[in-house]
Amino acid sequence: MSYDLCIIGAGAAGLMCAITAAKRGKRVLILEHNDQLGKKIRISGGGRCNFTNLHTDASHYLCQNPHFVKSALAGYSPYDFIDFITQAGIEYHERDHGQLFCNDSAQQIIDLFAKQCQQLGVEIQLQCHIDAVRYHDPHFEIKSHQGSFHSHALVIATGGLSLPKIGASPFGHRIAKQFDIPCVETAAALVPLTFTGKEKLALEQLAGIAIPIAVHYKNHNFCEAMLFTHRGLSGPAILQISSYWQPGDFITIDLLPGQNLQDNLEQLRDSKQHLHNYLATLLPKRLINLFISMGHIPEQMELRQLSHPSIIKISQQMHGWQLKPSGTEGYRTAEATRGGVDTHHLSSKTMASKHHPNLYFIGEVVDVTGHLGGFNFQWAWSSGYAAGSYC
Ligand SMILES: Cc1cc2nc3c(=O)[nH]c(=O)nc-3n(C[C@H](O)[C@H](O)[C@H](O)COP(=O)(O)OP(=O)(O)OC[C@H]3O[C@@H](n4cnc5c(N)ncnc54)[C@H](O)[C@@H]3O)c2cc1C
Repeated sequence: MSYDLCIIGAGAAGLMCAITAAKRGKRVLILEHNDQLGKKIRISGGGRCNFTNLHTDASHYLCQNPHFVKSALAGYSPYDFIDFITQAGIEYHERDHGQLFCNDSAQQIIDLFAKQCQQLGVEIQLQCHIDAVRYHDPHFEIKSHQGSFHSHALVIATGGLSLPKIGASPFGHRIAKQFDIPCVETAAALVPLTFTGKEKLALEQLAGIAIPIAVHYKNHNFCEAMLFTHRGLSGPAILQISSYWQPGDFITIDLLPGQNLQDNLEQLRDSKQHLHNYLATLLPKRLINLFISMGHIPEQMELRQLSHPSIIKISQQMHGWQLKPSGTEGYRTAEATRGGVDTHHLSSKTMASKHHPNLYFIGEVVDVTGHLGGFNFQWAWSSGYAAGSYC
């Protein structure tokens, strides 16, 4: 069986690529090893799919070539995807920071793609396990348990490595290597940070507490919520910084973002109020008790007894709590994968390999990782559209 285009992976990027190419009259086949389309779309955004972000631009992506994403994002923007779903009657709403979610269910987006694929004659083979991919100029041959398929162009849309239990696999990275296209080292991204030893014991006492914080690592800062867990730290701020964090390094947490504890304590130097009672008006009591037990703040002291140097020290602790994670929860819970197919070897306009012009890589398999908040799906739609427009 011969096709203009074979897409491996029926996730966000593969589905967008398929309908875009099929609208251009291409004969398209999608091969997917799961028994359903778009499993990650279904579970995303708590079942409501945070499908894009109104503030999408290159600054929200990690990539060794920071300009790479610009062309595809300009060619298919958040507003293009909004048009696509609103024309189909899918309603959505905006949450903080420009994040857009379906009102009803992520399934609506999957159903829309499935319907369009059917109307456009896109063939889909589910539960298709691929044994080998070969290039016999000018065609690719894809050997699978369901037989061999031939296509003029091949699009790899197999995603990242996170959540192997719903189908993530290193297939795309292997194909890149097979065709001599280098990959940037991969790691779990948008993932909770874990701790061992004393820090783990301390943090687990706070499990369940969520507070607004600012987290800093190198020149990256995120001001969002943080959640203490039994394994360490999670919540949006931590997931964001995890994409940048390198093992062995510290992260710095400002527990009172936007406040100036030093000034506040200086102004209260006549007060008989106890320091821990005052701090408990700003932060959860369990957290203050932890700081006392760690010796970061004195236990029984009135505000008027605080010396200037001790005010500076307390303030530094609360605005600059340094923690050294031991690792991350890994691909088991990560929302994304850092690294992937090296963009220096792909066309930013078409997503085609510079050395194998009919071989394309789109979506998360590429070394492009979005911040939390809908940026990863937008990359999947935009890169899928770019490849589908040219292949
Ligand atoms: C729990 C969770 C929640 C998320 N929520 C959001 C969110 O709300 N907003 C957002 O922007 N991003 C979110 N993401 C990230 C987003 O889901 C991904 O970035 C996006 O799905 C990537 O699209 P993709 O098409 O490249 O890969 P995927 O959507 O992962 O699709 C890849 C497809 O390829 C298939 N495949 C893999 N290997 C093979 C193989 N060997 N043979 C055949 N098929 C194969 C897979 O089964 C899968 O169907 C979330 C991720 C997770 C894990």
